[in-house]
Amino acid sequence: MNCSNRLARVSACPLCSCVPRNERVTRQALLPPRAGHRATSYLCFTMQEILNYIGGTLAPARSGAWLDGFAPAEGRVFARIADSGPEDVELAVAAAEKAGPAWVALGRQGRHDALMRVAALVERDLDGFARAESRDNGKPVHLAMEVDIPRAIANLRFFATAILHQESAAHITDDQAVNYTDRQPVGVAGCISPWNLPLYLFTWKIAPALAAGCTVVAKPSEITPLTSMMLAERCMEAGLPPGVLNIVQGTGPKVGAAITAHPSIPAISFTGGTATGARIAAVAAPMFKKLSLELGGKNPVLVFADCDFEEMLKETVRSSFSNQGQICLCGSRILVERSLYPRFKEAFVQRVKALRVGDPAVASTDIGAVVSEAHLHKVLNHVALAKEEGGAVLCGGHRVELDGPLAGGWFIAPTVIEGLGPGCRTNQEEIFGPVVTIQPFDTEEEAVQAANGTRYGLASVLWTSNGSRMHRLARLMKSGIVWVNCWMLRDLRTPFGGMKHSGVGREGGMEALNFFTEARNVCIKL
Ligand code: NAD
Repeated sequence: MNCSNRLARVSACPLCSCVPRNERVTRQALLPPRAGHRATSYLCFTMQEILNYIGGTLAPARSGAWLDGFAPAEGRVFARIADSGPEDVELAVAAAEKAGPAWVALGRQGRHDALMRVAALVERDLDGFARAESRDNGKPVHLAMEVDIPRAIANLRFFATAILHQESAAHITDDQAVNYTDRQPVGVAGCISPWNLPLYLFTWKIAPALAAGCTVVAKPSEITPLTSMMLAERCMEAGLPPGVLNIVQGTGPKVGAAITAHPSIPAISFTGGTATGARIAAVAAPMFKKLSLELGGKNPVLVFADCDFEEMLKETVRSSFSNQGQICLCGSRILVERSLYPRFKEAFVQRVKALRVGDPAVASTDIGAVVSEAHLHKVLNHVALAKEEGGAVLCGGHRVELDGPLAGGWFIAPTVIEGLGPGCRTNQEEIFGPVVTIQPFDTEEEAVQAANGTRYGLASVLWTSNGSRMHRLARLMKSGIVWVNCWMLRDLRTPFGGMKHSGVGREGGMEALNFFTEARNVCIKL
Protein backbone atom coordinates (compact mmCIF):
# COMPACT_ATOMS: atom_id res chain seq x y z
CA MET A 1 0.00 0.00 0.00
CA ASN A 2 2.97 2.29 0.17
CA CYS A 3 3.89 1.78 -3.44
CA SER A 4 4.22 5.02 -5.37
CA ASN A 5 2.61 3.51 -8.44
CA ARG A 6 -1.03 4.50 -8.22
CA LEU A 7 -2.35 1.50 -10.05
CA ALA A 8 -0.20 -0.89 -8.08
CA ARG A 9 -1.60 0.61 -4.92
CA VAL A 10 -5.09 -0.42 -5.94
CA SER A 11 -4.63 -3.99 -4.81
CA ALA A 12 -7.81 -5.91 -4.23
CA CYS A 13 -8.69 -7.96 -1.20
CA PRO A 14 -7.02 -11.36 -1.67
CA LEU A 15 -10.23 -13.14 -0.82
CA CYS A 16 -12.70 -11.09 -2.73
CA SER A 17 -12.53 -8.45 -5.39
CA CYS A 18 -13.05 -5.45 -3.19
CA VAL A 19 -10.64 -2.67 -2.52
CA PRO A 20 -8.90 -1.39 0.59
CA ARG A 21 -10.90 0.67 3.01
CA ASN A 22 -10.12 4.30 3.22
CA GLU A 23 -10.98 5.49 6.70
CA ARG A 24 -10.98 9.10 5.63
CA VAL A 25 -13.42 8.52 2.85
CA THR A 26 -16.87 7.67 4.11
CA ARG A 27 -18.86 6.53 7.06
CA GLN A 28 -18.55 2.82 7.33
CA ALA A 29 -20.16 0.41 9.70
CA LEU A 30 -18.47 -2.93 10.15
CA LEU A 31 -20.31 -5.92 8.78
CA PRO A 32 -19.76 -9.45 9.97
CA PRO A 33 -16.83 -10.92 8.01
CA ARG A 34 -17.82 -13.01 5.03
CA ALA A 35 -16.90 -16.68 5.16
CA GLY A 36 -13.20 -17.25 4.73
CA HIS A 37 -12.16 -13.64 5.29
CA ARG A 38 -9.75 -12.66 7.99
CA ALA A 39 -8.40 -9.25 7.18
CA THR A 40 -10.65 -6.35 8.17
CA SER A 41 -8.96 -3.74 6.08
CA TYR A 42 -11.11 -4.16 3.02
CA LEU A 43 -14.43 -2.73 2.02
CA CYS A 44 -15.99 -6.20 2.01
CA PHE A 45 -16.35 -5.83 5.77
CA THR A 46 -18.15 -2.56 5.68
CA MET A 47 -21.64 -1.31 5.00
CA GLN A 48 -21.32 2.21 3.82
CA GLU A 49 -23.93 4.78 4.71
CA ILE A 50 -24.72 7.34 2.07
CA LEU A 51 -26.36 10.34 3.64
CA ASN A 52 -27.93 13.61 2.67
CA TYR A 53 -25.85 16.76 2.86
CA ILE A 54 -28.22 19.55 3.83
CA GLY A 55 -27.36 22.85 5.46
CA GLY A 56 -23.75 21.77 5.91
CA THR A 57 -24.42 18.53 7.78
CA LEU A 58 -24.74 14.88 6.88
CA ALA A 59 -27.94 13.14 7.91
CA PRO A 60 -30.21 10.26 6.98
CA ALA A 61 -33.55 10.85 5.30
CA ARG A 62 -36.15 12.33 7.64
CA SER A 63 -38.28 9.24 7.19
CA GLY A 64 -35.39 7.03 8.29
CA ALA A 65 -35.88 4.89 5.18
CA TRP A 66 -32.96 3.39 3.24
CA LEU A 67 -32.31 2.06 -0.24
CA ASP A 68 -29.87 -0.73 -1.04
CA GLY A 69 -26.63 0.27 -2.77
CA PHE A 70 -25.10 -2.45 -4.94
CA ALA A 71 -21.53 -3.22 -5.97
CA PRO A 72 -22.03 -4.29 -9.62
CA ALA A 73 -18.85 -6.38 -9.83
CA GLU A 74 -19.97 -8.43 -6.84
CA GLY A 75 -23.70 -8.31 -7.49
CA ARG A 76 -24.39 -7.63 -3.82
CA VAL A 77 -25.40 -4.91 -1.44
CA PHE A 78 -22.53 -2.93 0.06
CA ALA A 79 -24.20 0.31 1.09
CA ARG A 80 -27.39 1.81 2.33
CA ILE A 81 -28.57 5.05 0.84
CA ALA A 82 -30.82 7.66 2.41
CA ASP A 83 -34.22 7.11 0.77
CA SER A 84 -35.28 10.74 0.88
CA GLY A 85 -38.54 12.36 -0.07
CA PRO A 86 -40.13 15.77 -0.67
CA GLU A 87 -39.68 16.71 3.00
CA ASP A 88 -35.89 16.40 2.62
CA VAL A 89 -35.99 18.45 -0.59
CA GLU A 90 -37.96 21.10 1.34
CA LEU A 91 -35.20 21.27 3.95
CA ALA A 92 -32.55 21.48 1.26
CA VAL A 93 -34.34 24.32 -0.55
CA ALA A 94 -34.72 26.23 2.72
CA ALA A 95 -30.98 25.79 3.44
CA ALA A 96 -30.07 26.87 -0.10
CA GLU A 97 -32.30 29.96 0.07
CA LYS A 98 -30.81 30.95 3.40
CA ALA A 99 -27.24 30.56 2.12
CA GLY A 100 -27.86 32.41 -1.16
CA PRO A 101 -27.26 36.08 -0.28
CA ALA A 102 -23.94 35.46 1.51
CA TRP A 103 -22.73 33.21 -1.32
CA VAL A 104 -23.44 35.95 -3.88
CA ALA A 105 -21.87 38.55 -1.60
CA LEU A 106 -18.70 36.45 -1.37
CA GLY A 107 -18.04 37.55 -4.93
CA ARG A 108 -16.37 35.78 -7.82
CA GLN A 109 -12.98 35.58 -6.16
CA GLY A 110 -14.40 34.16 -2.93
CA ARG A 111 -16.43 31.54 -4.78
CA HIS A 112 -13.42 30.71 -6.92
CA ASP A 113 -11.29 30.18 -3.82
CA ALA A 114 -13.87 27.93 -2.16
CA LEU A 115 -14.28 25.72 -5.24
CA MET A 116 -10.52 25.49 -5.68
CA ARG A 117 -10.18 24.28 -2.08
CA VAL A 118 -12.74 21.54 -2.73
CA ALA A 119 -10.94 20.55 -5.95
CA ALA A 120 -7.62 20.28 -4.08
CA LEU A 121 -9.15 17.94 -1.51
CA VAL A 122 -10.66 15.70 -4.18
CA GLU A 123 -7.26 15.59 -5.86
CA ARG A 124 -5.58 14.74 -2.57
CA ASP A 125 -7.93 11.77 -2.21
CA LEU A 126 -8.03 10.78 -5.86
CA ASP A 127 -7.24 7.13 -5.15
CA GLY A 128 -10.06 6.74 -2.66
CA PHE A 129 -12.52 8.49 -4.97
CA ALA A 130 -11.50 6.29 -7.91
CA ARG A 131 -11.84 3.09 -5.92
CA ALA A 132 -15.21 4.16 -4.59
CA GLU A 133 -16.47 5.13 -8.06
CA SER A 134 -15.39 1.77 -9.38
CA ARG A 135 -17.05 -0.13 -6.57
CA ASP A 136 -20.31 1.79 -6.91
CA ASN A 137 -20.49 1.73 -10.70
CA GLY A 138 -18.56 -1.37 -11.81
CA LYS A 139 -16.13 0.56 -14.01
CA PRO A 140 -12.40 -0.31 -14.03
CA VAL A 141 -10.52 1.50 -11.26
CA HIS A 142 -7.93 2.71 -13.76
CA LEU A 143 -10.67 4.38 -15.82
CA ALA A 144 -11.96 6.23 -12.76
CA MET A 145 -8.39 7.12 -11.85
CA GLU A 146 -7.51 8.40 -15.33
CA VAL A 147 -10.84 9.85 -16.50
CA ASP A 148 -13.71 10.23 -14.04
CA ILE A 149 -12.05 11.74 -11.01
CA PRO A 150 -9.46 13.91 -12.80
CA ARG A 151 -12.30 15.27 -14.91
CA ALA A 152 -14.39 16.01 -11.79
CA ILE A 153 -11.43 17.96 -10.40
CA ALA A 154 -11.03 19.74 -13.74
CA ASN A 155 -14.73 20.67 -13.76
CA LEU A 156 -14.40 22.34 -10.36
CA ARG A 157 -11.24 24.18 -11.34
CA PHE A 158 -12.46 25.14 -14.80
CA PHE A 159 -15.67 26.82 -13.62
CA ALA A 160 -14.01 28.33 -10.56
CA THR A 161 -11.64 30.05 -12.95
CA ALA A 162 -14.10 30.72 -15.76
CA ILE A 163 -16.25 32.91 -13.53
CA LEU A 164 -13.29 35.23 -13.11
CA HIS A 165 -13.26 35.73 -16.88
CA GLN A 166 -16.96 36.13 -17.57
CA GLU A 167 -17.61 39.30 -19.57
CA SER A 168 -20.74 41.33 -19.90
CA ALA A 169 -21.74 43.13 -23.06
CA ALA A 170 -22.43 46.83 -23.55
CA HIS A 171 -24.28 48.41 -26.48
CA ILE A 172 -24.13 52.10 -27.26
CA THR A 173 -27.38 53.23 -28.95
CA ASP A 174 -25.98 56.06 -31.08
CA ASP A 175 -25.91 59.13 -28.89
CA GLN A 176 -29.13 58.24 -27.07
CA ALA A 177 -28.33 55.57 -24.54
CA VAL A 178 -25.92 53.02 -23.22
CA ASN A 179 -27.13 49.49 -22.57
CA TYR A 180 -25.27 46.94 -20.54
CA THR A 181 -26.00 43.33 -19.71
CA ASP A 182 -26.18 42.56 -16.04
CA ARG A 183 -26.03 38.85 -15.19
CA GLN A 184 -27.32 37.70 -11.81
CA PRO A 185 -27.47 34.12 -10.49
CA VAL A 186 -30.91 32.56 -10.94
CA GLY A 187 -31.17 31.62 -7.25
CA VAL A 188 -31.50 28.00 -6.17
CA ALA A 189 -30.51 25.65 -8.99
CA GLY A 190 -31.71 22.05 -9.23
CA CYS A 191 -29.10 19.63 -10.61
CA ILE A 192 -30.02 16.01 -11.40
CA SER A 193 -27.40 13.59 -12.73
CA PRO A 194 -27.13 9.97 -13.94
CA TRP A 195 -25.10 6.89 -12.97
CA ASN A 196 -22.72 6.38 -15.87
CA LEU A 197 -20.10 9.03 -15.00
CA PRO A 198 -21.22 9.77 -11.46
CA LEU A 199 -18.86 12.40 -10.02
CA TYR A 200 -17.80 13.62 -13.46
CA LEU A 201 -21.34 14.64 -14.45
CA PHE A 202 -22.37 15.70 -10.95
CA THR A 203 -19.55 18.26 -10.83
CA TRP A 204 -20.19 19.25 -14.46
CA LYS A 205 -23.47 20.71 -13.20
CA ILE A 206 -22.82 21.91 -9.69
CA ALA A 207 -19.50 23.62 -10.47
CA PRO A 208 -20.90 26.19 -12.96
CA ALA A 209 -23.99 26.70 -10.80
CA LEU A 210 -21.92 27.44 -7.70
CA ALA A 211 -19.37 29.53 -9.58
CA ALA A 212 -22.17 31.62 -11.07
CA GLY A 213 -23.43 32.39 -7.57
CA CYS A 214 -26.35 29.99 -7.34
CA THR A 215 -26.89 27.80 -4.37
CA VAL A 216 -27.70 24.23 -5.31
CA VAL A 217 -30.03 21.37 -4.49
CA ALA A 218 -28.51 18.38 -6.25
CA LYS A 219 -29.53 14.78 -6.70
CA PRO A 220 -27.05 12.17 -7.90
CA SER A 221 -28.31 8.89 -9.26
CA GLU A 222 -29.55 6.54 -6.55
CA ILE A 223 -27.63 3.82 -8.39
CA THR A 224 -24.21 5.49 -7.87
CA PRO A 225 -24.39 8.04 -5.02
CA LEU A 226 -21.17 7.17 -3.16
CA THR A 227 -18.77 9.77 -4.52
CA SER A 228 -21.33 12.57 -4.14
CA MET A 229 -21.31 11.93 -0.41
CA MET A 230 -17.50 11.87 -0.42
CA LEU A 231 -17.61 15.23 -2.20
CA ALA A 232 -19.93 16.54 0.54
CA GLU A 233 -17.32 15.52 3.11
CA ARG A 234 -14.65 17.42 1.18
CA CYS A 235 -16.93 20.47 0.97
CA MET A 236 -17.23 20.42 4.76
CA GLU A 237 -13.48 20.08 5.13
CA ALA A 238 -12.91 22.92 2.66
CA GLY A 239 -15.17 25.22 4.65
CA LEU A 240 -17.83 25.63 1.96
CA PRO A 241 -20.52 27.67 3.71
CA PRO A 242 -23.43 25.51 4.93
CA GLY A 243 -26.38 25.38 2.55
CA VAL A 244 -24.44 26.48 -0.52
CA LEU A 245 -24.44 22.92 -1.86
CA ASN A 246 -27.14 20.52 -0.71
CA ILE A 247 -27.25 16.92 -1.83
CA VAL A 248 -30.46 14.95 -1.46
CA GLN A 249 -30.06 11.21 -1.97
CA GLY A 250 -32.89 9.04 -3.22
CA THR A 251 -34.95 8.02 -6.20
CA GLY A 252 -36.04 10.01 -9.22
CA PRO A 253 -39.79 9.71 -8.68
CA LYS A 254 -39.47 10.97 -5.08
CA VAL A 255 -36.48 13.33 -4.88
CA GLY A 256 -35.95 14.22 -8.56
CA ALA A 257 -39.65 14.93 -9.06
CA ALA A 258 -39.80 17.09 -5.90
CA ILE A 259 -36.81 19.15 -7.08
CA THR A 260 -38.34 19.54 -10.54
CA ALA A 261 -41.71 20.70 -9.19
CA HIS A 262 -40.41 22.93 -6.40
CA PRO A 263 -41.61 26.51 -6.94
CA SER A 264 -38.47 28.00 -5.37
CA ILE A 265 -36.13 26.29 -7.86
CA PRO A 266 -36.24 28.34 -11.07
CA ALA A 267 -33.67 26.35 -13.08
CA ILE A 268 -33.25 22.61 -13.62
CA SER A 269 -30.12 21.12 -15.12
CA PHE A 270 -30.72 17.47 -15.93
CA THR A 271 -28.63 14.72 -17.49
CA GLY A 272 -30.19 11.31 -18.03
CA GLY A 273 -32.53 9.37 -20.26
CA THR A 274 -34.78 10.95 -22.90
CA ALA A 275 -37.98 9.60 -21.31
CA THR A 276 -37.05 11.12 -17.95
CA GLY A 277 -36.16 14.38 -19.67
CA ALA A 278 -39.63 14.47 -21.21
CA ARG A 279 -41.23 13.93 -17.78
CA ILE A 280 -39.15 16.73 -16.30
CA ALA A 281 -39.98 19.08 -19.17
CA ALA A 282 -43.70 18.34 -18.77
CA VAL A 283 -43.56 19.57 -15.16
CA ALA A 284 -41.01 22.36 -15.48
CA ALA A 285 -42.12 24.00 -18.75
CA PRO A 286 -45.56 25.17 -17.52
CA MET A 287 -43.77 26.61 -14.47
CA PHE A 288 -41.53 28.57 -16.89
CA LYS A 289 -38.34 27.21 -15.38
CA LYS A 290 -35.03 27.43 -17.18
CA LEU A 291 -34.25 23.94 -18.45
CA SER A 292 -31.06 22.29 -19.60
CA LEU A 293 -31.62 18.71 -20.72
CA GLU A 294 -28.75 16.41 -21.69
CA LEU A 295 -30.37 13.19 -22.87
CA GLY A 296 -29.77 9.90 -24.65
CA GLY A 297 -27.93 9.14 -27.84
CA LYS A 298 -27.45 6.57 -30.60
CA ASN A 299 -24.23 7.90 -31.98
CA PRO A 300 -22.94 7.01 -35.45
CA VAL A 301 -19.30 6.41 -36.34
CA LEU A 302 -18.56 6.91 -40.05
CA VAL A 303 -15.45 5.16 -41.30
CA PHE A 304 -14.18 6.05 -44.77
CA ALA A 305 -11.64 3.95 -46.67
CA ASP A 306 -9.12 6.81 -46.71
CA CYS A 307 -8.80 6.99 -42.90
CA ASP A 308 -5.73 6.20 -40.83
CA PHE A 309 -6.77 2.58 -40.29
CA GLU A 310 -4.76 1.75 -37.17
CA GLU A 311 -5.67 4.95 -35.35
CA MET A 312 -9.32 4.54 -36.32
CA LEU A 313 -9.34 0.93 -35.13
CA LYS A 314 -7.82 1.73 -31.75
CA GLU A 315 -10.16 4.66 -31.12
CA THR A 316 -13.25 2.87 -32.41
CA VAL A 317 -12.70 0.04 -29.95
CA ARG A 318 -12.47 2.70 -27.24
CA SER A 319 -15.49 4.68 -28.46
CA SER A 320 -17.52 1.47 -28.53
CA PHE A 321 -16.62 -0.12 -25.21
CA SER A 322 -15.14 2.45 -22.86
CA ASN A 323 -16.98 2.32 -19.51
CA GLN A 324 -18.76 -0.84 -20.81
CA GLY A 325 -20.32 1.28 -23.56
CA GLN A 326 -22.15 3.29 -20.91
CA ILE A 327 -21.10 6.75 -22.03
CA CYS A 328 -23.72 8.88 -23.74
CA LEU A 329 -21.04 9.74 -26.33
CA CYS A 330 -20.07 6.15 -27.19
CA GLY A 331 -20.46 5.27 -30.87
CA SER A 332 -22.98 2.47 -31.15
CA ARG A 333 -23.61 2.32 -34.93
CA ILE A 334 -20.43 1.89 -36.94
CA LEU A 335 -20.91 2.63 -40.64
CA VAL A 336 -17.99 1.52 -42.81
CA GLU A 337 -17.30 2.25 -46.48
CA ARG A 338 -17.88 -1.03 -48.32
CA SER A 339 -14.39 -1.31 -49.82
CA LEU A 340 -12.93 -1.26 -46.29
CA TYR A 341 -15.67 -3.32 -44.64
CA PRO A 342 -14.08 -6.83 -44.80
CA ARG A 343 -10.75 -5.59 -43.45
CA PHE A 344 -12.46 -3.53 -40.75
CA LYS A 345 -14.74 -6.37 -39.68
CA GLU A 346 -11.93 -8.86 -39.29
CA ALA A 347 -9.58 -6.52 -37.43
CA PHE A 348 -12.29 -4.98 -35.24
CA VAL A 349 -13.77 -8.30 -34.11
CA GLN A 350 -10.28 -9.62 -33.39
CA ARG A 351 -9.52 -6.59 -31.18
CA VAL A 352 -12.86 -6.78 -29.40
CA LYS A 353 -12.42 -10.48 -28.65
CA ALA A 354 -9.08 -9.63 -27.05
CA LEU A 355 -10.64 -7.18 -24.57
CA ARG A 356 -10.38 -8.48 -21.03
CA VAL A 357 -13.62 -8.62 -19.08
CA GLY A 358 -12.89 -8.91 -15.40
CA ASP A 359 -12.19 -7.55 -11.97
CA PRO A 360 -12.45 -3.74 -12.10
CA ALA A 361 -9.70 -3.47 -9.48
CA VAL A 362 -7.14 -5.17 -11.74
CA ALA A 363 -5.10 -2.80 -13.88
CA SER A 364 -5.25 -4.97 -17.01
CA THR A 365 -9.07 -5.14 -17.06
CA ASP A 366 -10.64 -3.46 -20.09
CA ILE A 367 -14.31 -4.12 -19.38
CA GLY A 368 -15.80 -4.02 -15.89
CA ALA A 369 -19.35 -4.76 -14.78
CA VAL A 370 -22.45 -3.01 -16.11
CA VAL A 371 -24.14 -0.87 -13.53
CA SER A 372 -27.05 -3.01 -12.33
CA GLU A 373 -28.80 -6.31 -12.72
CA ALA A 374 -31.72 -4.55 -14.40
CA HIS A 375 -29.34 -2.96 -16.88
CA LEU A 376 -27.64 -6.31 -17.53
CA HIS A 377 -31.00 -7.78 -18.52
CA LYS A 378 -31.91 -4.73 -20.59
CA VAL A 379 -28.70 -5.02 -22.61
CA LEU A 380 -29.02 -8.80 -23.07
CA ASN A 381 -32.65 -8.37 -24.16
CA HIS A 382 -31.43 -5.97 -26.83
CA VAL A 383 -29.00 -8.62 -28.07
CA ALA A 384 -31.89 -11.11 -28.24
CA LEU A 385 -33.91 -8.52 -30.17
CA ALA A 386 -31.02 -8.00 -32.59
CA LYS A 387 -31.00 -11.74 -33.32
CA GLU A 388 -34.77 -11.72 -33.85
CA GLU A 389 -34.31 -8.87 -36.28
CA GLY A 390 -31.88 -11.00 -38.28
CA GLY A 391 -28.58 -9.73 -36.87
CA ALA A 392 -25.53 -12.00 -36.65
CA VAL A 393 -23.55 -11.79 -33.40
CA LEU A 394 -19.88 -11.76 -34.43
CA CYS A 395 -18.57 -11.83 -30.87
CA GLY A 396 -19.90 -11.51 -27.31
CA GLY A 397 -23.64 -11.33 -26.84
CA HIS A 398 -23.67 -13.13 -23.50
CA ARG A 399 -23.15 -12.69 -19.79
CA VAL A 400 -19.66 -13.42 -18.47
CA GLU A 401 -19.57 -15.44 -15.27
CA LEU A 402 -16.46 -14.86 -13.19
CA ASP A 403 -15.21 -17.07 -10.40
CA GLY A 404 -15.00 -16.55 -6.67
CA PRO A 405 -16.26 -13.36 -5.08
CA LEU A 406 -17.16 -11.85 -8.45
CA ALA A 407 -19.35 -14.80 -9.37
CA GLY A 408 -22.49 -12.73 -8.83
CA GLY A 409 -21.17 -9.74 -10.81
CA TRP A 410 -22.98 -8.22 -13.78
CA PHE A 411 -20.50 -8.65 -16.64
CA ILE A 412 -21.28 -8.74 -20.37
CA ALA A 413 -18.88 -9.75 -23.15
CA PRO A 414 -18.30 -6.90 -25.60
CA THR A 415 -20.64 -7.52 -28.50
CA VAL A 416 -20.46 -6.81 -32.22
CA ILE A 417 -23.50 -7.39 -34.44
CA GLU A 418 -23.80 -7.20 -38.23
CA GLY A 419 -26.44 -7.75 -40.84
CA LEU A 420 -28.96 -5.15 -39.69
CA GLY A 421 -30.24 -2.16 -41.63
CA PRO A 422 -30.41 1.37 -40.24
CA GLY A 423 -34.16 1.33 -39.59
CA CYS A 424 -34.42 -1.66 -37.24
CA ARG A 425 -34.97 -1.23 -33.49
CA THR A 426 -31.42 -2.34 -32.70
CA ASN A 427 -30.13 0.59 -34.74
CA GLN A 428 -32.75 3.03 -33.49
CA GLU A 429 -33.00 2.47 -29.72
CA GLU A 430 -30.37 3.41 -27.19
CA ILE A 431 -28.82 0.27 -25.67
CA PHE A 432 -26.21 2.01 -23.51
CA GLY A 433 -24.08 -1.07 -23.00
CA PRO A 434 -21.14 -2.93 -24.59
CA VAL A 435 -22.99 -3.58 -27.87
CA VAL A 436 -22.32 -2.09 -31.30
CA THR A 437 -23.54 -2.80 -34.81
CA ILE A 438 -21.45 -2.61 -37.96
CA GLN A 439 -22.93 -1.78 -41.35
CA PRO A 440 -21.36 -1.21 -44.79
CA PHE A 441 -22.26 1.81 -46.94
CA ASP A 442 -21.59 2.66 -50.58
CA THR A 443 -21.91 6.43 -50.85
CA GLU A 444 -21.36 9.45 -48.65
CA GLU A 445 -25.05 10.35 -49.02
CA GLU A 446 -26.14 6.93 -47.83
CA ALA A 447 -23.81 7.18 -44.83
CA VAL A 448 -25.10 10.62 -43.85
CA GLN A 449 -28.70 9.51 -44.20
CA ALA A 450 -28.13 6.48 -41.98
CA ALA A 451 -26.11 8.52 -39.47
CA ASN A 452 -28.87 11.11 -39.12
CA GLY A 453 -31.70 8.60 -39.35
CA THR A 454 -32.59 8.28 -35.66
CA ARG A 455 -34.49 10.50 -33.27
CA TYR A 456 -31.23 11.21 -31.42
CA GLY A 457 -28.51 13.74 -32.23
CA LEU A 458 -25.88 13.85 -29.53
CA ALA A 459 -22.49 13.02 -31.07
CA SER A 460 -21.05 11.65 -34.28
CA VAL A 461 -17.58 10.53 -35.26
CA LEU A 462 -15.98 10.79 -38.72
CA TRP A 463 -12.86 8.93 -39.82
CA THR A 464 -11.38 10.28 -43.05
CA SER A 465 -8.21 11.93 -44.27
CA ASN A 466 -10.09 14.00 -46.87
CA GLY A 467 -10.09 17.58 -45.59
CA SER A 468 -13.04 18.85 -47.58
CA ARG A 469 -15.10 15.81 -46.60
CA MET A 470 -14.35 16.53 -42.94
CA HIS A 471 -15.90 19.97 -43.16
CA ARG A 472 -18.70 19.00 -45.55
CA LEU A 473 -19.91 16.10 -43.44
CA ALA A 474 -19.36 17.83 -40.10
CA ARG A 475 -21.92 20.42 -41.20
CA LEU A 476 -24.36 17.75 -42.37
CA MET A 477 -24.31 15.77 -39.14
CA LYS A 478 -27.43 16.42 -37.07
CA SER A 479 -25.62 16.20 -33.76
CA GLY A 480 -24.40 18.68 -31.19
CA ILE A 481 -20.87 17.27 -31.24
CA VAL A 482 -18.85 16.05 -34.23
CA TRP A 483 -15.49 14.42 -33.66
CA VAL A 484 -13.23 14.07 -36.68
CA ASN A 485 -10.43 11.50 -36.43
CA CYS A 486 -10.78 11.40 -32.64
CA TRP A 487 -13.27 10.63 -29.88
CA MET A 488 -13.87 12.14 -26.44
CA LEU A 489 -11.22 14.78 -27.02
CA ARG A 490 -12.73 17.43 -24.77
CA ASP A 491 -12.12 21.12 -24.29
CA LEU A 492 -14.31 22.36 -21.44
CA ARG A 493 -14.81 25.73 -23.14
CA THR A 494 -16.78 24.19 -26.02
CA PRO A 495 -20.58 23.95 -26.16
CA PHE A 496 -21.78 20.51 -25.13
CA GLY A 497 -25.22 19.10 -25.83
CA GLY A 498 -27.52 17.35 -28.22
CA MET A 499 -30.02 18.03 -30.98
CA LYS A 500 -33.44 16.43 -31.49
CA HIS A 501 -34.31 13.99 -28.68
CA SER A 502 -30.78 14.16 -27.29
CA GLY A 503 -31.48 17.36 -25.46
CA VAL A 504 -32.23 21.02 -25.13
CA GLY A 505 -29.62 23.67 -24.41
CA ARG A 506 -25.87 23.52 -24.12
CA GLU A 507 -23.50 22.98 -21.22
CA GLY A 508 -19.81 23.78 -21.09
CA GLY A 509 -17.83 26.99 -20.94
CA MET A 510 -19.77 30.23 -20.80
CA GLU A 511 -22.94 28.44 -21.96
CA ALA A 512 -23.17 26.81 -18.54
CA LEU A 513 -22.45 30.01 -16.64
CA ASN A 514 -25.07 31.79 -18.72
CA PHE A 515 -27.61 29.06 -17.98
CA PHE A 516 -27.27 29.59 -14.25
CA THR A 517 -27.62 33.35 -14.56
CA GLU A 518 -30.41 35.61 -15.70
CA ALA A 519 -29.42 38.35 -18.15
CA ARG A 520 -30.96 41.75 -17.57
CA ASN A 521 -30.50 44.66 -19.95
CA VAL A 522 -30.01 48.03 -18.28
CA CYS A 523 -30.66 50.97 -20.60
CA ILE A 524 -29.45 54.41 -19.44
CA LYS A 525 -30.45 57.43 -21.47
CA LEU A 526 -27.54 59.66 -22.22
P1 NAD B 1 -32.36 8.30 -15.82
O1 NAD B 1 -33.10 9.25 -16.68
O2 NAD B 1 -33.05 7.05 -15.43
O3 NAD B 1 -31.92 9.00 -14.45
C1 NAD B 1 -31.14 10.18 -14.43
C2 NAD B 1 -31.42 10.92 -13.13
O4 NAD B 1 -32.77 11.35 -13.14
C3 NAD B 1 -31.26 10.05 -11.90
O5 NAD B 1 -30.70 10.82 -10.86
C4 NAD B 1 -32.70 9.67 -11.58
O6 NAD B 1 -32.90 9.33 -10.22
C5 NAD B 1 -33.43 10.93 -11.96
N1 NAD B 1 -34.84 10.77 -12.23
C6 NAD B 1 -35.50 9.64 -12.61
N2 NAD B 1 -36.82 9.91 -12.74
C7 NAD B 1 -37.00 11.22 -12.46
C8 NAD B 1 -38.13 12.08 -12.42
N3 NAD B 1 -39.35 11.65 -12.71
N4 NAD B 1 -37.92 13.38 -12.10
C9 NAD B 1 -36.70 13.85 -11.84
N5 NAD B 1 -35.59 13.07 -11.82
C10 NAD B 1 -35.74 11.77 -12.14
O7 NAD B 1 -31.00 8.03 -16.57
P2 NAD B 1 -29.86 7.02 -16.12
O8 NAD B 1 -30.35 5.64 -16.41
O9 NAD B 1 -29.38 7.38 -14.79
O10 NAD B 1 -28.69 7.42 -17.15
C11 NAD B 1 -28.59 6.87 -18.42
C12 NAD B 1 -29.12 7.84 -19.46
O11 NAD B 1 -28.46 9.09 -19.34
C13 NAD B 1 -28.83 7.38 -20.87
O12 NAD B 1 -29.98 7.59 -21.66
C14 NAD B 1 -27.69 8.27 -21.32
O13 NAD B 1 -27.61 8.46 -22.71
C15 NAD B 1 -28.03 9.53 -20.62
N6 NAD B 1 -26.85 10.40 -20.49
C16 NAD B 1 -26.80 11.52 -21.24
C17 NAD B 1 -25.68 12.35 -21.17
C18 NAD B 1 -25.58 13.60 -21.98
O14 NAD B 1 -24.71 14.40 -21.71
N7 NAD B 1 -26.43 13.81 -22.96
C19 NAD B 1 -24.64 12.01 -20.31
C20 NAD B 1 -24.73 10.84 -19.56
C21 NAD B 1 -25.85 10.04 -19.65
